[in-house]
Amino acid sequence: MTTQAEGPLVLGIDLGGTKILAAVVDAEHRILGRAKEATPAREGGAALQDALIEAGRNALTAAGLEPSNIEALGIGSPGPLDVEAGIIRSSPNLNVVDFPLKETLHQAFGVPVAVQNDVRAGGYGEFMLGAGRGYRDIVAAFVGTGIGGCLIRDGAIVSGITGNAGEIGHLIVKANGPKCGCGRRGCLEAVASRTAITRRIHKAIKKGASTPLREVVRNKNSRLKSKELSNAYRSGDPVAVHEVERAARFIGLALGSLINVLGPEIVIIGGGVTEAIGSPFVELVRNAARGQAMADPDRRVHIEQAELGDDAGVLGASLIARERYLSAPSLT
Ligand SMILES: [Zn+2]
Repeated sequence: MTTQAEGPLVLGIDLGGTKILAAVVDAEHRILGRAKEATPAREGGAALQDALIEAGRNALTAAGLEPSNIEALGIGSPGPLDVEAGIIRSSPNLNVVDFPLKETLHQAFGVPVAVQNDVRAGGYGEFMLGAGRGYRDIVAAFVGTGIGGCLIRDGAIVSGITGNAGEIGHLIVKANGPKCGCGRRGCLEAVASRTAITRRIHKAIKKGASTPLREVVRNKNSRLKSKELSNAYRSGDPVAVHEVERAARFIGLALGSLINVLGPEIVIIGGGVTEAIGSPFVELVRNAARGQAMADPDRRVHIEQAELGDDAGVLGASLIARERYLSAPSLT
């Protein structure tokens, strides 16, 4: 492999609830330049447009390039989306309705734009370039602020007739359980995401539990970083250990159930919480999933940690754009 960029070049953007990541990616899937902007979560469409364009331009500048040097753009965005039209239908987290993502970015960068759900783009990145390399049937779950999912069947993202399939975080694991951001009750995300863990730790503190996280988790809406949770867990803090084990058990139940339904070759577990705690968390989830997976007596389904970290989204989005608009990807 040479250090020379292998063209054609694609701009990949990962639009998240808190940050926008952008990267210029070459045909060997190497990142030539990257940029990060805070997501203007409350300010609406015009601010979002500015931040997206700024992130893209800064990534190009970081790579010593201009918009005329790229040939396509891929973006992963929270939804629900109209993937074909490239529109964010609505996103409470971004405070936009019917936002024309594809048209906005096409106008700004002058190249064809592919739009996909952010988690599906990340899952596709892991499938092609990370823990999923060499497999065709994948279930991926990303545990962070929420819980995102991606199903890949016979090498293609499963998005269903709705265009929005793969929402593992909204599998119901507890009937009439805690309220979810989606408005329903008992979703996996409402029980086992970092947000859910934070809420439960706050409750435990209110009941008098002693934990080093007391300083961080002042109320149920406190922002607990994955690193802080991981440090408390690793130091053996009983509150953190209890909540992490509980969350992992629910995630394992959901993933084991999906193994029974879908029989994937591999289940990939990623996201901020997984990355911060690492193999002990994956082990907890794996054990719970194995216990639930009655349809896999020979343990043929691999259960592994994601490999690409924060880069999964930009790499997946750039790959989707490359496959749609440019020649086939090179994986040599
Ligand atoms: Zn939900």
